[in-house]
Amino acid sequence: MAIGHVALVGAGPGDPELLTMKAVKALAQAEVVVHDRLVSDAVLKVAPDSAMRISVGKEAGRHSYKQEEINDLLVHLALQGKNIVRLKGGDPFVFGRACEEIEALEAHGITWSVVPGITAAQGCASSARVPLTHRGLARSLRFVTGHCRADQPLDLDWKGLADPQTTVVFYMGHATAPQLSAKLIENGLPAETPTLCISQGTTPQERRMFTRLDRLPVDLERAHLPSPILIIVGNAVGWRPGQSTGDIGDETGLPSCEPDSAGAGQRRRFGRT
Ligand code: SAH
Repeated sequence: MAIGHVALVGAGPGDPELLTMKAVKALAQAEVVVHDRLVSDAVLKVAPDSAMRISVGKEAGRHSYKQEEINDLLVHLALQGKNIVRLKGGDPFVFGRACEEIEALEAHGITWSVVPGITAAQGCASSARVPLTHRGLARSLRFVTGHCRADQPLDLDWKGLADPQTTVVFYMGHATAPQLSAKLIENGLPAETPTLCISQGTTPQERRMFTRLDRLPVDLERAHLPSPILIIVGNAVGWRPGQSTGDIGDETGLPSCEPDSAGAGQRRRFGRT
């Protein structure tokens, strides 16, 4: 029997219209779809009804797969000759542990390919009409993991990250928001630096909370935003059309929360309308 093929496919941040044409094609040909919890139902619907769907995400009350188990599952299915799509939220090569899966496939002589996806930073920023770079406000962009082991402090290049001309996007930063706010300020980033939290970006449930870096922990706790959450810090977050250098202070002390449908024109930022 011929050995199967594994396509590691980026599912994008949630909106099925943000799938690439290559992703749609790979899904249409899939016999098995092995997917993360973050992959939305709307995206899963793109695969044919006949395709077997296996969720390997962490869900309360259900068995959650360890990374080694996912690797073994992919190898097992491929050795059965199946055409497999390993569907991952966002882009497979951005905080997606794709390399571990690829190494397991390689060890068994299984062929693989990667289809890129729109990563959460891109999808969420566009959805909230926030630029990630800007001539004058942000000349560089960094994607950073806010995830750390329990009881361990976040070990990041805080000096390098605390640059007023850099947009810093924290993935998996919900639990460590107090640390990252404190560390960035301690290393010189102004307390009033515009900060945006996006919950379930690009989905119909998307919520946005605009705040300042120093108020991030308190406002995030108060807002009770459902995961997944992305945190974007930087002066570019304060940009509004027609305002090239950002009038970004806050006198009100109130964060502004928005439903998904608010346009930039009506957006309340830092207590202003
Ligand atoms: N490979 C993915 C990232 C996986 S890490 C990608 O490229 O996007 C998981 C983290 O991504 C979440 O904790 C959250 O910080 C972020 N994330 C993914 N999808 C998101 C969404 N729709 N809205 C907000 N954050 C999201």
